[in-house]
Amino acid sequence: MARKPIMAGNWKMNMNHVDAVGLVQKLAFTLQDKGYDPEASECVVIPPFTGIRTVQTLIEGDRLPIVHGAQDVSEHDDGAYTGDISADMLAKLGCTYVIVGHSERRQYHGETDELVNAKAVKALSKGLTPIICVGESLEVRKAGQHVEFTVAQVRGALAGIPAGQVAGLVIAYEPVWAIGTGEVATPEDAQEVCGAIRRAVTELYDEATGQSVRIQYGGSVKPGSVTAIMAKPDIDGALVGGASLKPDDFAAIVRFY
Ligand code: PGA
Repeated sequence: MARKPIMAGNWKMNMNHVDAVGLVQKLAFTLQDKGYDPEASECVVIPPFTGIRTVQTLIEGDRLPIVHGAQDVSEHDDGAYTGDISADMLAKLGCTYVIVGHSERRQYHGETDELVNAKAVKALSKGLTPIICVGESLEVRKAGQHVEFTVAQVRGALAGIPAGQVAGLVIAYEPVWAIGTGEVATPEDAQEVCGAIRRAVTELYDEATGQSVRIQYGGSVKPGSVTAIMAKPDIDGALVGGASLKPDDFAAIVRFY
């Protein structure tokens, strides 16, 4: 089964809602200029919460070939959770995707596999597609434990989620040592873990689910590195931080094919 490539730009805590307008307009223009075909790859932008409404208005108003998402979601429904944002609110803002378990959330906010699982379950229940992030630290890689560690994170994140939902979601393999460091995993390193993730999903569920789940690589992806990464059989896209803030670079990544 053909899996549609998905290129997602994680803006992290960058771009206020005014800056977001310029970035999305320039991105859309550059994509058009490069002859981008939305059937060939999916272009996703993931602004901070404060930019989502603006980005939604722009995409819908100008019918841009871009979809949008959010960087995090509460595991709770609407209620007394000061500072949190619910899946219902994100769905109402037209979000298609939501990142859960990014390593920066795990590191700075103590998010555990259990919490990541609860957030993924909540997102799915409201019709959002989670992009579940997993990946090992340098310490774990040096100890040669990167495959076991990452696969265990995947199992934890998927606990109790039925095959029908898993088939449609996205898993992003982001080795922590490659995020924002300029240190890209080699395509072989990335394939090793992405292949192991797909085998784990196949073992947990079935062949069809394993073949259908989309797996991204993330960590210092640039226009110059994307083609070799995308040539690997189990890599279906990229989760892009730094380069997604540069419309020329991100458009080139989306137009990798
Ligand atoms: P980077 O970030 O591309 O800047 O390394 C990737 C990510 O953290 O999603």
